[in-house]
Amino acid sequence: MFDKEVDVAVIGGGPAGLASAIKASENADVLLLERGKELGGILQQCIHNGFGNFIFKKMLTGPEYAHRFIKMVKETGIEVMTETTVLQINEKKIIATSPEGLFKINAKAIVLAMGCRERSRAQILIPGTRPAGIYTAGTAQRLINIDGIMPGKRVVILGSGDVGLIMARRFVLEGAEVEGVYEIMPKPGGLMRNVVQCLYDYGIPLHLSHTIIDIKGKRRVEGVTVARVDERMKPIEGTERFIPCDCLILAVGLIPENELSRQIGIEMDDATGGPIVDEGMETSLPGIFACGNVVHVYDLVDDVTITAEVAGESAAKYANGKIEEKKKIKVLAGKNVRYVVPQILRGKSDSVTFYFRVKEERKNAKIEIFSGDKKIFERKERIMRPAEMVKVEIEAKLIDWVKEKVWIEVE
Ligand SMILES: Cc1cc2nc3c(=O)[nH]c(=O)nc-3n(C[C@H](O)[C@H](O)[C@H](O)COP(=O)(O)OP(=O)(O)OC[C@H]3O[C@@H](n4cnc5c(N)ncnc54)[C@H](O)[C@@H]3O)c2cc1C
Repeated sequence: MFDKEVDVAVIGGGPAGLASAIKASENADVLLLERGKELGGILQQCIHNGFGNFIFKKMLTGPEYAHRFIKMVKETGIEVMTETTVLQINEKKIIATSPEGLFKINAKAIVLAMGCRERSRAQILIPGTRPAGIYTAGTAQRLINIDGIMPGKRVVILGSGDVGLIMARRFVLEGAEVEGVYEIMPKPGGLMRNVVQCLYDYGIPLHLSHTIIDIKGKRRVEGVTVARVDERMKPIEGTERFIPCDCLILAVGLIPENELSRQIGIEMDDATGGPIVDEGMETSLPGIFACGNVVHVYDLVDDVTITAEVAGESAAKYANGKIEEKKKIKVLAGKNVRYVVPQILRGKSDSVTFYFRVKEERKNAKIEIFSGDKKIFERKERIMRPAEMVKVEIEAKLIDWVKEKVWIEVE
């Protein structure tokens, strides 16, 4: 076991880890740790375009977007260790394993950027047999886009989040037949742009308020039984339909990868599945910062990059002993708001950007932010959907720092 000393250690080399490492390196020594062979995280397998529209004003593919940051990492001289998995954190000491064995890192500040993983069949409890041919959407994406392996020829997709929608189109482009995308909720789970560009443009049917109630097949999937569900999401008798297929794709949600965060006792938000952070992306443990999908699942990588830069900058400041705080106040999710990030404010910056999702769709909606006894922000939106993350930036001086809380409502 050997030791390393660094100012800032960044865990995870996806877009969040890359951007935070680059930003932190402007004022600190940085070590970037990635368990995979390559940097880039999930973007390596996302060969469709749709990345970087906001930051680069271009529709890049995932690898193109990642490459721009990987190049910057190389130019800055950040120390990078790939094939290195962080196993444990104790205070600011990290235990990691690399091909050379276990080692310990003493860091002044740590940035958590471990991304998220997909929900699997075990988490949604579909009955039936356990044959081959059932994949999560991310696994199928990796098989097709990186390994050049087609997981099936006749495909059913469960879940209409962005990953499911993108994979429906990918299967069709590779010559498979996609029988349909089935979604238990009455509205699609992904961005409207993906519903249109990935399903409607390719004639792939979207069946809302439907789920899979049985899987048939011994060695290989032979088909699935789907059924319509009622408003309590219970299958409606008499609506069952058997669909022959050789491949079932599960695109049933992403879970922030927070085993390390929980293990060290970081305070978590049940609504996001990620750590509670302030506007500098600092968690409840001083000197430990978090960014990207480990905090909450972002729609767009551009927002991951922007918030990761905040985390990197804050981590370098912490390592140099330069963080100033005013007072801790809570940010609450009010009427029709599912969650808000950051969940606390400590008066660390001149402006604050809130990211949040609504609980229910609203047409002609109004976003309102309150602080103390005053309304400090109002904006009208033509339509707001739970699938689409909302971003609002306000000046920190509008906030009443004496009162205990800020809250957001949507009508
Ligand atoms: C199928 C799909 C399609 C998408 N399409 C778009 C799109 O069109 N446009 C868009 O803007 N966004 C899109 N996104 C979203 C975007 O890819 C994500 O927002 C972004 O990749 C999140 O970055 P991240 O760094 O937080 O996580 P990740 O990219 O998941 O990176 C996390 C990294 O951390 C590493 N790691 C985890 N644990 C450890 C550990 N213990 N030790 C060391 N390393 C560790 C992982 O190996 C991984 O490399 C898509 C995402 C998916 C999955």
